[in-house]
Amino acid sequence: MDTTVYSLVVPLYNEELVITECYKRLKQIMDTLNESYEIIFVNDGSKDNSDKIIEEICNKDSNVRLINFSRNFGHQSAITAGMQFSEGSAIIIIDADLQDPPEVIYRMIEKWKEGYDVVYGKRIKRKGETFFKKFTAKIFYKILDKLTDVNIPRDTGDFRLIDRKVCDVLNALPEKNRYVRGLVSWIGFKQTEVEFIREERFAGETKYSLKKMLKLAFDGITSFSYKPLKFASIIGIMMSIIGFIYLLVVLFKKFFTDKNIQGWTSLIGVNIMFSGIILLALGIMGEYIGRIYEEVKNRPIYIVKDTKGFGKKYEKNNTTYIKKI
Ligand code: UDP
Ligand code: MG
Repeated sequence: MDTTVYSLVVPLYNEELVITECYKRLKQIMDTLNESYEIIFVNDGSKDNSDKIIEEICNKDSNVRLINFSRNFGHQSAITAGMQFSEGSAIIIIDADLQDPPEVIYRMIEKWKEGYDVVYGKRIKRKGETFFKKFTAKIFYKILDKLTDVNIPRDTGDFRLIDRKVCDVLNALPEKNRYVRGLVSWIGFKQTEVEFIREERFAGETKYSLKKMLKLAFDGITSFSYKPLKFASIIGIMMSIIGFIYLLVVLFKKFFTDKNIQGWTSLIGVNIMFSGIILLALGIMGEYIGRIYEEVKNRPIYIVKDTKGFGKKYEKNNTTYIKKI
């Protein structure tokens, strides 16, 4: 049997409006390469007709595969599943909404053939995204950069090509709250970038709600830095020193001057501020503890409902299939 050269991993959630076009564009490009490939659509628990549309495509095209999750597990889990089911020597992760232009794949493959193990897409411009999204993304990448020692390139998403060996290492990492692009940087090997302009969505709306974006941001920070945990001790030490100096001032005033000390307003102010700082510090600890809790439970990252197009390998009479790490 021929080995597959390229595996395209396409995560999707409620993307019935874009799938057909996405498939057409990907196929067009992959067919020109004259090398074997597979397109793995990972349906992350869509509630629309995404699964039906892909099934139709699977029936006609033996290069196309489908993984259906039992529910929505999130973008990062979908990417993870695609990588674990992939067979190719190079794995390309690309969004279904055509914001990542498929033509960039050519340049990624070129770099891979030059000997790079990871080729990530760097967004030099983002079209059709709200000011809020661009602004928060910018701040997030800045904070992440400051907090982490791993060099996670800015303005890159998950659109990238990775070599089989990087994929195997990723697949062997057991962590649950995955920030895949960070993990790829952490793994190392020979990495490079190709620049591209991020297009507008082909159709539909973003599937990344504010809640999902925040979860991704916290996963990114907590997976790669525990500096936020030091926040409590640093603020604590600073405040103790300031408090001690202030205490000396107050005592001096009491014993050596006859000035009447009034303090209700300042007391309330200080009280609110400190309660805020304490709760914030507790909240930060909570973020870490919650993630430790999830790791300890050791539940799977996703649950597969069924698959199509993989041949005999993964199809077990439609029974639920959990791929073990
Ligand atoms: N996606 C997913 N699961 C989710 C949310 C999104 O598989 O819970 C997919 C989505 O269908 C798309 C990709 O992840 O193919 C990127 O999401 P989206 O385009 O909505 O994010 P944005 O580009 O707006 O950041
Ligand atoms: Mg998008």
